[in-house]
Amino acid sequence: MKLLLAGRFDDAERAIWHRLLAAELSGHELLIAPSESDRQSIEAAIVANPPPDALQGLPRLRLVQSLWAGVDRLLADPTLPPKVPIARMVDPALADAMAQTTLWAVLALHRGFFEYQRQQRAATWRQLAQRRADEVAVLLLGLGEMGRSCAVVLKRAGYRVTAWTRSGRTTAPDGVRVIGGADTLRRQLAETEVVVNLLPLTADTRGLLDAAFFAAMPRHGAVINFGRGAHVVDADLLLALDEGRLRHAVLDVFHHEPLPAEHRYWQHDRVTVLPHAAALTDPRSAARVAAANVQALAEGRPVAHRVDRTRGY
Ligand code: NAP
Repeated sequence: MKLLLAGRFDDAERAIWHRLLAAELSGHELLIAPSESDRQSIEAAIVANPPPDALQGLPRLRLVQSLWAGVDRLLADPTLPPKVPIARMVDPALADAMAQTTLWAVLALHRGFFEYQRQQRAATWRQLAQRRADEVAVLLLGLGEMGRSCAVVLKRAGYRVTAWTRSGRTTAPDGVRVIGGADTLRRQLAETEVVVNLLPLTADTRGLLDAAFFAAMPRHGAVINFGRGAHVVDADLLLALDEGRLRHAVLDVFHHEPLPAEHRYWQHDRVTVLPHAAALTDPRSAARVAAANVQALAEGRPVAHRVDRTRGY
């Protein structure tokens, strides 16, 4: 089969992905700059937010395999062929990394480690009350590949974990409560100390974390955003932090990335900024996952991790 590799990579990244994918897909031809005649026979495209038009003019295309877990940017591309199946990246290594970062952030909020950092800057020696993990209620927004992995690790660490999902009936790890619906979410927020956003960005979830959302949380709650920047209304979050209604925010994703140097988040005392690094795709394992799906296509087997375009994830 002829395959296309297309993405917004720099040259070094493109070379790494090409080497790893070509090794996994040795029976196939993986092209980076296909000729016009090659384009007529390409059957699968392996992509990482490809430039617009990259997937146009491929009459035999049967699969778009994303190398990234989130497909919001891919789906927003008006030049994406409308009927070709899309598969996203589901890699246990990615979910493990997300669980590690989430545990770090929840633990730092629970035990006051961000507060100790502030105290250090002021040369303040003051011990904070040390609460047990089971006194801390964590709400995960989303219980998919990322959310489930985080739920297991947080539960094991002793936290009280609830997860909000679209259906409200998603299968959950032991001891994790699942809820659904907007009203239930508001009620749950009132009892939540730490919110962890792990939702996909869709028409329904864009701007979910707004003034009303923060107002529904108890005073001194905290927010962790590892989903997408556009889930948060920045002005509302900054106001809630400035007024002391929220205690702290750990933010990994932003409306504009890289986060512009003049953005208030950089200097805000109650914000921790990460450079979209909560869970980085590991090309070694991700290349295997992508190649397995392409091989399934080649052998006429079902392709895994299909995106539902109408739901948006
Ligand atoms: P996933 O497996 O598709 O799971 C999505 C979860 O969100 C599901 O539980 C789903 O509910 C829930 N959901 C979707 N729409 C909802 C709505 N309107 N209301 C309530 N719940 C809703 O996705 P994933 O692999 O866990 O990834 C989630 C997101 O994490 C990605 O889309 C990406 O944006 C982000 N991400 C970030 C990084 C990073 O480094 N910061 C890395 C990887 C991924 P159901 O269970 O009912 O379907």
